[in-house]
Amino acid sequence: MSSPIHVSTFIPRPSDMPGETSASNPVSRTKRGIADTSKRWPDGIVNIALDLRDNRSKALVIDALREWAHHTPALRFNVVDGKDGDIRITDDEGFQGSWSVVGIDAKDMPLDEPTMHLDRNDDSAVFRATALHEIGHALGMEHEHQHPANTINWDKDYVYRSINESQGWDKDMIDLHIFSTYTGPNVLQTPYDTRSIMHYATYADETIDGQEVPQNYSLSKGDQTIIRTLYTPRRFKGGDADSSANP
Ligand SMILES: [Zn+2]
Repeated sequence: MSSPIHVSTFIPRPSDMPGETSASNPVSRTKRGIADTSKRWPDGIVNIALDLRDNRSKALVIDALREWAHHTPALRFNVVDGKDGDIRITDDEGFQGSWSVVGIDAKDMPLDEPTMHLDRNDDSAVFRATALHEIGHALGMEHEHQHPANTINWDKDYVYRSINESQGWDKDMIDLHIFSTYTGPNVLQTPYDTRSIMHYATYADETIDGQEVPQNYSLSKGDQTIIRTLYTPRRFKGGDADSSANP
């Protein structure tokens, strides 16, 4: 009975990284956006459970959460160890690829399943960047390279071939996560931004004009702006009985 759950993925592009896929996870073409306002968490506390291998991984994920938290005044992240939370992050090697359910679609996931998987990686910078990207999805962010105003001139035939070889994705998966662009009533967007953590790196041989977008490792100004817009507090707007709320 659960509604389609939107899972989004991250292709780690540094050449030394293993491939990632969400092919075994439920994917839908539900309403999407650069940020999708329909996936927004309500104001308040979001419990985040970390089921991670070691303290280094935990520290990196917490650091990535903190980077987003600076720009989400409506939310408070309550981070706990284990598997019991609204957002459930694991690096269990029984799952493949790095992926996250988008925003509050996490509520539609079975409680005994993770809502985000991060591939283990000994390169702390890459692992942290992957965590930042997936946390973005978990907050309702979508892929920046799928921005309607993106300027990437994909060599589609090449990308279909190369991503199929490296990730095992079929044409539908590649269209879904790379080529399709976002439209619809729930789209919240800022100008197209190649510095966004939500943008895949692109390589010269993937485009017909040789354009490249380097791997990003932190939130761009655009990321900060859009997430702050999405998570400006709403709870007390219009005035209500909570004006005397406890401190
Ligand atoms: Zn992604």
